[in-house]
Amino acid sequence: MSTRHDIRNVAIVAHVDHGKTTLVDAMLKQAGAFAAHQHVDDRVMDSNDLEREKGITILAKNTAVKYHPKDGGDPVTINIIDTPGHADFGGEVERGLSMVDAVVLLVDASEGPLPQTRFVLRKALSARLPVILCINKTDRPDARIDEVVNETYDLFLDLDADEDQIEFPIVYACARDGVASLTKPQNGTVPADSDSLEPFFSTLLAHVPAPTFEEEAPLQAHVTNLDADNFLGRIALLRVEQGHLKKGQTVAWIKRDGTVQNVRITELMMTEALTRKAAESAGPGDICAVAGIPDIMIGETLADPENPIALPLITVDEPAISMT
Ligand code: GDP
Repeated sequence: MSTRHDIRNVAIVAHVDHGKTTLVDAMLKQAGAFAAHQHVDDRVMDSNDLEREKGITILAKNTAVKYHPKDGGDPVTINIIDTPGHADFGGEVERGLSMVDAVVLLVDASEGPLPQTRFVLRKALSARLPVILCINKTDRPDARIDEVVNETYDLFLDLDADEDQIEFPIVYACARDGVASLTKPQNGTVPADSDSLEPFFSTLLAHVPAPTFEEEAPLQAHVTNLDADNFLGRIALLRVEQGHLKKGQTVAWIKRDGTVQNVRITELMMTEALTRKAAESAGPGDICAVAGIPDIMIGETLADPENPIALPLITVDEPAISMT
């Protein structure tokens, strides 16, 4: 097995308002992908405007943070997949989790884990994904960090987390200020021993497993979500598991009913920050988007035409009965 050390695929599970957007924005700003003195918002707006003029505005469903380690190591693309922070009837949770190798559970330091995140966390735990706990808003005057951590342990026990999962690392954060620490701050204060999200980034690099793959394996890419674009039509979001997907290449499309049709990849895209950009090739572990296959469905596989082997279909509980 080989490892893609330059990729981490992670989902952030959070109750609404616990600070997911604020955290991801701060990650984008600090990742070092943008020139100094330029706000990420401006850059994103600029590229959006450009895309709009060209008529190909596509806001990605995932965010790609290109993190440049402070120790001078090679840059790592952290793909953050959006999962709804609540029970879901359409399988969006399963789709999100099928793309990632770990989950960040983001919890407000005052409100604690709320019932609505329980459903998503249960799915993540039963999918055997490792979890990183991030306690956010430690600066809140009503923060109660120890209690919230204990409530989270109780929740894990209640959801039958395995031993590895319950030994989750804990990061304390004030996403608003873009600061994180591995040391528990005083209730109501911003972590003081750090001035950035660096401890959060290094925890992600250490605890989100890097994708692994077989060196000479034939192409297998899993359709994990769908999107639509006025110009490009249906867009399939894929995670490449093995081999490479290249623009212009003919691949075998293995459908749900087991039939196989050869199709050409006319448009291949990868996410940079918040927008999709044209790409030439995607490799193992990459999250990419493909246009031009009108009837492609979630769970289907794009494979090597010489050796078409389907990946397992994504199983979805529909309808989700348990809302607790
Ligand atoms: P989301 O719904 O999880 O995406 O939450 P948002 O990122 O939109 O944040 C919800 C609210 O919490 C906003 O008003 C943020 O400014 C605020 N917020 C986010 N992070 C922090 C934090 O670290 N401390 C405090 N005090 N407020 C925060």
